[in-house]
Amino acid sequence: MRRALVALIATAATLAGTALPALPALAAPALAPAPAPAPAPGASGLGDEYFPDYGNSGYDVSHYDIRLRYQPDTDTLTGTTTILATATQDLSSFDLDFVLDVTSVRVNNRVATATRAGDHELVVTPPRSIAAGQPMTVVVQYSGVPSSKRAAGFTAWTKTPDGALAVGEPEMSWWWFPANDHPADKATFDVSVSVPDGTEVISNGVQPRPPSPEILGWTRWNWRSVKPMATYLAFLAIGQYDLRTDTAPNGQPVLTAYSQLLAPDFADAARASVERTAEVIDWESGLFGPYPFEAQGGVVAPPGAITFALETQTRPVYSSKFFRSGSNMYVVVHELGHQWFGDSVSVAQWKHIWLNEGFAAYAEWLWSQAQGEGTAQEIFDYTYAQHAADSPFWTVKPGDPGAADVFDGAVYDRGAMTLHQLRLAVGDAAFFDLVRTWTTTHRYGNGTTDEFVALAERISGKQLDALFQTWLFTPARPDVATAPATSAASVRAAAPRQPRSWAAIQRSHALLAGH
Ligand SMILES: [Zn+2]
Repeated sequence: MRRALVALIATAATLAGTALPALPALAAPALAPAPAPAPAPGASGLGDEYFPDYGNSGYDVSHYDIRLRYQPDTDTLTGTTTILATATQDLSSFDLDFVLDVTSVRVNNRVATATRAGDHELVVTPPRSIAAGQPMTVVVQYSGVPSSKRAAGFTAWTKTPDGALAVGEPEMSWWWFPANDHPADKATFDVSVSVPDGTEVISNGVQPRPPSPEILGWTRWNWRSVKPMATYLAFLAIGQYDLRTDTAPNGQPVLTAYSQLLAPDFADAARASVERTAEVIDWESGLFGPYPFEAQGGVVAPPGAITFALETQTRPVYSSKFFRSGSNMYVVVHELGHQWFGDSVSVAQWKHIWLNEGFAAYAEWLWSQAQGEGTAQEIFDYTYAQHAADSPFWTVKPGDPGAADVFDGAVYDRGAMTLHQLRLAVGDAAFFDLVRTWTTTHRYGNGTTDEFVALAERISGKQLDALFQTWLFTPARPDVATAPATSAASVRAAAPRQPRSWAAIQRSHALLAGH
């Protein structure tokens, strides 16, 4: 009910705001000066259509300083997160998204009260209100056993035999740091974790200093992300890992990590794939524009820990399952493609998810073509032919799949098909100009489907509404231009040859989709 009330107040305020300019000019002098609005609570959501209570409003975070201690034996996490933010309204209270047990909250050095609401909201009320535009330093101290905390019906924190993984989308931060948990509010991060000696801690970005002894028997690891990052892209991998460091051709540090629990054949297949990270980033930079981040790498999780991969910023995390049949470049190409599409340019709302998954899948098609394993056109044709007109595949609208189908396979495959149709419609020069302009103009920010369509029309000079309406928003199989109606062409169109990359791409998508 609290959320509904806030929404009503927000709507009323919006209506009042839009009504004002319409008042007759003559009436203005007669009006008394509007009283300063009373400080009000920030809303418990950021207005996301699919996940209305994800993120919070009333403030904007610029930096998270997360300082933790983790005991793998008991899955006990204790810590302090310091949030640097700016109030975006006169705030009497505000929410953070978080589920662990909070022992104290301070706002601008004064003790604040903190109460629970919903299943992941922490309502913070400072002793004095915060004026719009004022900086806020919020210090939250907490502890808990993250794997024991359920929210949204589950725990996203994964306890592993030798440590833990904090890797998840769209909700993950709730289990390890209090946050404004929505990609619309990005920030820089310092992550520092103390663990028993001999345990590794891997996170995003660079290591500003090497792991160093703390109190007897404990070592502290430090990670820093200097480019803005969405909260769901921050990760922790704690356990027994083999680390490899290198320098990429572009001079950036590369750090890869492989769970020591991987069976040798899995570990070799994983290395044969993830060790090519810098090569893939170099290749993708040629297509998508300069790599947007400060470091490179990847992490392969312990067997069974997770069944998906995630494009965690600068350093994707992979389930070992991707490598059970041998090396798999397609998942690496997919997750690294996300560094441009998803990480640097993030969704403004989760309904725009095809801008992440469609591009990451299309990166795989382009890789397939570059490797001689099937052209993008061949993969398009084969994908199209695989799904009969009455297949449920065509009922999912990639441009607005609904909260339950954000990671449906159609968002990936039909998203990539949409991009391929766009490319055919505007030509290669305009298509890749569009791609690079998109990654440049929205770098470190957010994007929407409407903005992408508008840019595509501007760069191509073509009217593309019908194409996007057909491919993104129509729950039916689109017609595609067919080859001239000779019998041989008809046979080919009905049963295109399976591209050599198809099986590997599909195996990866089956794991990626639906988590
Ligand atoms: Zn993806």
